[in-house]
Amino acid sequence: MGLSLDLSRARPSPPPAAPLNLAGLSRPKLAAALVEAEVCPPEKARMRANQVWRWMHHFGATDFDRMTDIAKQTRAKLADAFVISRPEVVERQVSRDGTRKWLLRFAPGVEAESVYIPDVGRVGALCVSSQVGCTLNCTFCHTGTQALVRNLTAGEIAGQVLVAKDDLEEWPSDREDRSLSNVVFMGMGEPLYNLDNVAEAMDIIADGEGIGLSRRRITVSTSGVVPELKPLGERTQAMLAISLHATNDELRDELVPLNRKYPIKELIAGIRAYPGLSNARRVTFEYVMLKGINDSPAEARALVRLVQGLPAKINLIPFNPWPGSPYECSDGATIEAFAAILNRAGYASPIRTPRGRDILAACGQLKSESEKERASVRWAREADASL
Ligand code: SAH
Ligand code: SF4
Repeated sequence: MGLSLDLSRARPSPPPAAPLNLAGLSRPKLAAALVEAEVCPPEKARMRANQVWRWMHHFGATDFDRMTDIAKQTRAKLADAFVISRPEVVERQVSRDGTRKWLLRFAPGVEAESVYIPDVGRVGALCVSSQVGCTLNCTFCHTGTQALVRNLTAGEIAGQVLVAKDDLEEWPSDREDRSLSNVVFMGMGEPLYNLDNVAEAMDIIADGEGIGLSRRRITVSTSGVVPELKPLGERTQAMLAISLHATNDELRDELVPLNRKYPIKELIAGIRAYPGLSNARRVTFEYVMLKGINDSPAEARALVRLVQGLPAKINLIPFNPWPGSPYECSDGATIEAFAAILNRAGYASPIRTPRGRDILAACGQLKSESEKERASVRWAREADASL
């Protein structure tokens, strides 16, 4: 008896998986990947991983053929099994003031921005994103108008540093004249809602045999996720920045809605307990200057009272407008008067000069076109795949 098969509804075979990208893997994950791909036996994995690591993160190699201290045969095996790649640069803009902004695509529909700001810290800071979009809806922030698409992985966060280093020609990593001296988690997203990946990314970029950025030059800015402050300090030893923006709960509830969950008193107690806080390692309070909202002399005095006893710096950020934003920036004279009150009380309070405003690269102006895939679209795609 003949048997006929109707193949028309057979499940199509899945597309071959893309080769794993080694750049941005932590050292232990890199060693494990080499063993799994049978590039080397387990007992040699550490040594081999160290070699590859150095080529990727110290010399910026993206080609296994450059790894001349690794035997040719092994290099061929590596190239068969892996790639060394970067997030795709969808758009690159350079501001009149030298600020550079990259729109990066990590996967289809998963895009975020990072910004290099010259003359911050010793030489320059890279502002990285930790999420695409944000779940918090701070009313003055452009990213806050974009729904969360997803957390970025450790490799995707570290990949932002690699892209910037390529563009700034910062290889090898120990160059005397390096212009990327600091990393700040002040791009898109709330880093403390993605702490595992942020901590792993920091292990990658702080590793002394790779990019080698000192942990004291890495700052994590948070809107105040109090329960994650201690874990952040213990796991990363990062410098802490807190987006405060108001001195009373009524106003902060409105500007930073997370305040309804973790009000100012709890926030200050959490900061006080931040591991390693000292006069040499101060917490930075960020305070965005909103005209007629939070910029009166009385509020400056309230701010002084609030941070009293904490080793702190206060960063006044002129509000950066974005299309449709509901606020205006305080006048120059108002900001100066506010800063003078803080200075008289003994707090260094630099006014952050807005950078890259012409390319919408300044604080809080970042927003990518990626939006969460609409449920209907997702449903249609999943239904299609299950046929
Ligand atoms: N989610 C984190 C880090 C990203 S926001 C946080 O909120 O801290 C980085 C900084 O930019 C924060 O201090 C934030 O308050 C500030 N910011 C957001 N929108 C801004 C705007 N339009 N103008 C000026 N600063 C802004
Ligand atoms: Fe999110 Fe920070 Fe923007 Fe608030 S200020 S919406 S926490 S990115």
